[in-house]
Amino acid sequence: SHDSHEIDSSRRKDDDSPVHGLSEKIVGVLGGGQLGRMLCQAASKMAIKVMVLDPSENCPASALAYDHMVGSFDDSATVEEFAKRCGVLTVEIEHVDVATLEKLEQQGINCEPKASTIRIIQDKYLQKVHFSRHGIPLPEFMEINNLEETKRAGELYGYPLMIKSKRSAYDGRGNVVAKSEGELSLAIDVLGGFGRGLYVEKWAPFIKELAVIVARGRDNSILCYPLVETIHKENICHIVKAPADVPWRIRKLANDVAYKAISSLEGAGVFAVELFLTRDGQILLNEVAPRPHNSGHHTIESCYTSQFEQHLRAVVGLPLGDPSMKTPAAIMYNLLGEDEGEPGFRVAHQLIARALEIPGATAHWYDKPEMRRQRKMGHITLVGPSVGILEVRLKSMLREEGYENP
Ligand code: ATP
Ligand code: MG
Ligand code: MG
Repeated sequence: SHDSHEIDSSRRKDDDSPVHGLSEKIVGVLGGGQLGRMLCQAASKMAIKVMVLDPSENCPASALAYDHMVGSFDDSATVEEFAKRCGVLTVEIEHVDVATLEKLEQQGINCEPKASTIRIIQDKYLQKVHFSRHGIPLPEFMEINNLEETKRAGELYGYPLMIKSKRSAYDGRGNVVAKSEGELSLAIDVLGGFGRGLYVEKWAPFIKELAVIVARGRDNSILCYPLVETIHKENICHIVKAPADVPWRIRKLANDVAYKAISSLEGAGVFAVELFLTRDGQILLNEVAPRPHNSGHHTIESCYTSQFEQHLRAVVGLPLGDPSMKTPAAIMYNLLGEDEGEPGFRVAHQLIARALEIPGATAHWYDKPEMRRQRKMGHITLVGPSVGILEVRLKSMLREEGYENP
């Protein structure tokens, strides 16, 4: 090991080198969206420097980062150049140039989680093949290359049928539901055709969607955050309730599935495991994210260690922090763009103002330069004595019926 606190190329080759001065360690994050921004906020409290790579000059993380390299995280030369400036590389988005990360790892550069993990996860079909090989329960799935195969899948799985693109999917973009065989051809066109790489999933008749954030340290220790319920609106995460209101047996099962899924992947960091709870009490895995996740935003206010602090602890090689809740309950509400431009900003800012009237509410604004419909612009977290009480407070914030007007 080295005595110097400088991060130089000789140091980087030494994979097992202990972390010395925290302030000298630069964490390079591929992507500078809201997740990168909240990583920067957590980093500033721990004397960790975060550098982000993002093509947008005024991306959400830019103003808070130690440094921002403007460039594409999907471009080989750019990622290599970025890596030279960092002590350890991590991601806030999985759609990055993974071949370059693999090459950098071979050169001794530290990527957490490992490039192999990002390679598996960035292709949803590959991800499903991987997890099914590891005995993780999933909705049935099948690759499709032409209309004939798709029709056969429809006969096998029935309708509605979920058609997904393998890559570059997020916030439901990349998913189309076909309600009958007659809708298949249009659905495939909407997804950009078979050339994009498509597969189908059997419809999961879920009664709830659940999620677990799992953290793994550099020493391979694993800790799970409390199980949460996620509620989606048009395929986009909208509300998160923590803890999830499910029987003990389901909590245990969800935790076991999440733990097993993450144990099958390599590298340090936090991971999100999205799950379906079916009517007959089964837990099925939907997908995994190799990074902090929308379902874990509540942890900033509700847990002893937020998912962002935890991710940094993990990738830098510090001990993991306590993931348990320090408040009995939390609800997170996403501020999704309701309109384009100025009118959209007005609605969002109004909601923030109302949130500030609610006890236990904290607003997070991502400072995205452009307002678009359905875009994640910020979020509000409410913490308090029970999920039931927070639901009433959320309703009053949203000026919905069913709450006692004070
Ligand atoms: P994210 O923003 O979480 O990355 P994504 O674009 O990767 O979203 P998925 O997680 O694949 O999309 O799906 C989005 C939502 O669509 C799920 O949260 C769920 O509500 C619904 N969904 C996905 N797959 C299925 C399925 N097989 N059966 C029923 N509903 C599904
Ligand atoms: Mg996804
Ligand atoms: Mg998802």
